[in-house]
Amino acid sequence: MKYIDEFRDGALARKLSAAIAREAAPGRSYNLMEFCGGHTHAISRYGIKDLLPANVRMIHGPGCPVCVLPIGRIDSAIELAARPGLVLATYADTLRVPASKGQSLMKAKARGSDIRMVYSSADAVRIACENPDREVVFFAIGFETTTPPTAVAIVEAAARGLTNFSVFCNHVLTPAAIANILESPEVRELRTVPLDGFIGPAHVSTVIGSQPYEYFAEEYQRPVVIAGFEPLDVMQAILMLIRQLNDGRAEVENEFTRAVTRHGNVKAKALVAEVFELRRSFEWRGLGEVPYSALRIKEKYRAFDAEARYGIEYRSVPDNKACECGAILRGVKKPTDCKVFGTVCTPENPIGSCMVSSEGACAAHYTYGRFKDVPVVVQAA
Ligand code: SF4
Repeated sequence: MKYIDEFRDGALARKLSAAIAREAAPGRSYNLMEFCGGHTHAISRYGIKDLLPANVRMIHGPGCPVCVLPIGRIDSAIELAARPGLVLATYADTLRVPASKGQSLMKAKARGSDIRMVYSSADAVRIACENPDREVVFFAIGFETTTPPTAVAIVEAAARGLTNFSVFCNHVLTPAAIANILESPEVRELRTVPLDGFIGPAHVSTVIGSQPYEYFAEEYQRPVVIAGFEPLDVMQAILMLIRQLNDGRAEVENEFTRAVTRHGNVKAKALVAEVFELRRSFEWRGLGEVPYSALRIKEKYRAFDAEARYGIEYRSVPDNKACECGAILRGVKKPTDCKVFGTVCTPENPIGSCMVSSEGACAAHYTYGRFKDVPVVVQAA
């Protein structure tokens, strides 16, 4: 398949692996964070870590939209869905994210709440059109990739004069999260998380462009390479980061030139600016309250804001004590550092959000890497 097969070519992967091994200086370590869950998934699925020398270390970042959703937001969605006659429409992954007291949207659905899985925000608008006597709320989550479709849904609902449609907005912003990580004590003061460079997200950057990362490269002197999600994209980005670090450069480079430009999708950004504005603060799972890191619906579209319509008040809820998702999302720990990884916590029975989506670090490790460190026992004949 064009644009897929050529980016999964084994012979090219071996060449890139050899180039990385050749150019990574033996006396130095390279600690690179892949911000996005899509890259975490690709690194685990294609065994990219096994193709890297020991001094090139990949650190998972918080770029998985389901993983960073705090429990309090899921609790609010469950409460909304319990309102008589209300339909809650949402993307599939949110259904299984653990909420308070062992609850989830999936369990709420089993108890009788009308919660419907949708593939797009347009599906939610369609449900509202088809059910004029029901209130329909779209539980919107995600980074800059899924924000424009939510904006489209709100603008369309306004154009159609829908009075039974609203959005529970939980859209978050990539640059604010990267800044938060770079400002964290683990990176800045304690240096328990050495961070030398970033692989920037692919699909987010198709919308926002490469320009927003220029600030980090300059201010924090960390190189950023925006990369696609195929294995060769990721390996090429690693090589580009190593070259920058060897040269003492801290620039934004774009490996994903087939889809990302410096200014991104100008039309989509204008639409987002028309409908949304910055929140002063938003709680992220793992990162805590992060200033100006999320969006809310503008006053002009208040009629479509579920938080205003239903008076939703946010309540912060601590994670399950056994769960290390917070530390994993900050790059402080690995999934295998969690005591319940692969035993109590599995994709079938997730205890934390990182085990839910295929982009979550724990789910990726469980699916593709959990047996790697287990010694093979050969039985005597
Ligand atoms: S294995 Fe489960 S409980 Fe442990 S950090 Fe990952 S998601 Fe949380």
